[in-house]
Amino acid sequence: MSEYDVVIVGGGPAGLAAAIAAKTSGCDDVLLIERDRILGGILNQCIHDGFGLHRFNEALSGPEYAARFIDQLRSLSIPTMQSSIVLDLSTKDGKPSLLVSRLGELVKISAKSVVLSMGCRERPRGALAIPGHRPSGVYTAGAAQNLINLENIMPGKRAVILGSGDIGLIMARRMTLEGAKVESVFEVLPWSSGLPRNIQQCLVDYDIPLYLSTTVVDIVGMKRLEGVKVAEVDKDRKQIPGTERFVPCDTLLLSVGLIPENELARGAGIAMSPITGGPLVDDTCMTSAPGVFSCGNALHVHDLVDWVSEEAERAGRSAAVYAGGKKTGSEKKTVQVRPGAGVRYVMPDHLVGDDAILAFRVLVPARNGKVQLVSRGVDGEKVIKEETHARLHPAEMIRIRVLPSEVSALGAGDVLEVRVP
Ligand SMILES: Cc1cc2nc3c(=O)[nH]c(=O)nc-3n(C[C@H](O)[C@H](O)[C@H](O)COP(=O)(O)OP(=O)(O)OC[C@H]3O[C@@H](n4cnc5c(N)ncnc54)[C@H](O)[C@@H]3O)c2cc1C
Repeated sequence: MSEYDVVIVGGGPAGLAAAIAAKTSGCDDVLLIERDRILGGILNQCIHDGFGLHRFNEALSGPEYAARFIDQLRSLSIPTMQSSIVLDLSTKDGKPSLLVSRLGELVKISAKSVVLSMGCRERPRGALAIPGHRPSGVYTAGAAQNLINLENIMPGKRAVILGSGDIGLIMARRMTLEGAKVESVFEVLPWSSGLPRNIQQCLVDYDIPLYLSTTVVDIVGMKRLEGVKVAEVDKDRKQIPGTERFVPCDTLLLSVGLIPENELARGAGIAMSPITGGPLVDDTCMTSAPGVFSCGNALHVHDLVDWVSEEAERAGRSAAVYAGGKKTGSEKKTVQVRPGAGVRYVMPDHLVGDDAILAFRVLVPARNGKVQLVSRGVDGEKVIKEETHARLHPAEMIRIRVLPSEVSALGAGDVLEVRVP
């Protein structure tokens, strides 16, 4: 059994930033484990630009953004174990240990603290229960992106995209640039699930129509996809009779949601959020298992990589503090954080420190929407902060800083609620 102070699982942008932060916070014994041959995670296949606008004030491609962190990791001489997959996490007796499959052998590693940064995976066709046969030509958008950008393989010539999440929008543009005809993008919700800039740059600029409140109801074709039947849906997502039509295509790309990768956390009995699919964490990113931290898309699906890196730095710093035998938060009090009216979820689940960033998503779009931070305690309710946002949209993660003075005004046992009244 090898021993390390801090072990990071996953070498995407979250794992890279966490490893660098752990090392630069004074922990000399950091190991990063990545199942792929190369570091960088999903960014390696994202060759479009738009990464790092907040962090570097530049529109980098995915590989360029990742390279900045990989270079820093190398210059800090942080060891990595690549082509190595973590199969199991145990937190028995409060001491994390990992079982790793590496080039045909199993390795046991123990750590004082572990950062889980395994990213997320795409929701597949099976999760949608679309009727029809199982012809070739049906891909998740990310799988098609991998084929085109990394393997130089075109999945088809005439495409339909189901779901208007960012990966679907980016693939609509990518398929067009590579010579395919993208017929349409269909979205079951009455609004797009992607960022507004992607709607403009990937659909509007290329005359690709987006049909809202419309979904694929049948997949047609035996060996190869011949087309899809689509229909409009009502507000309860029930098919509206008489709206069905056939759209010929040889390729259907699914962009219908991402699921945080958390088999390791679940297997270790870590408390999970049923809404985000990630662990419940405090503001130091610590999960319910002492010494186990979570960040990036494994914690909750982020819209921008800049926020992934920022959150992962917090997790990496906290993991280094914990490995050094110190408390990651103040011992004074714990404040629960909860989503109120109009809010789908808020991250973190509870505060143990004095300064936090709350990240949350709203349920429905709004213009000039108010966001309130409300404290609820034995003395009743108090609005401690109110902000007006020109645009609130479920596709965008919204962030609010809670200042030390605002945290210290809260009593132990108080609940902090984020509301969109
Ligand atoms: C198509 C697409 C377009 C995007 N466009 C933008 C954009 O324009 N701008 C922007 O800011 N953001 C964009 N994003 C979002 C951004 O890429 C993600 O938020 C970010 O990559 C998430 O980082 P992560 O490290 O959490 O996950 P990932 O990048 O997924 O990395 C997770 C890593 O963990 C490894 N791993 C998983 N399980 C294990 C295990 N058991 N053992 C060892 N290793 C493991 C994986 O191999 C992977 O390398 C885009 C994302 C996608 C998919």
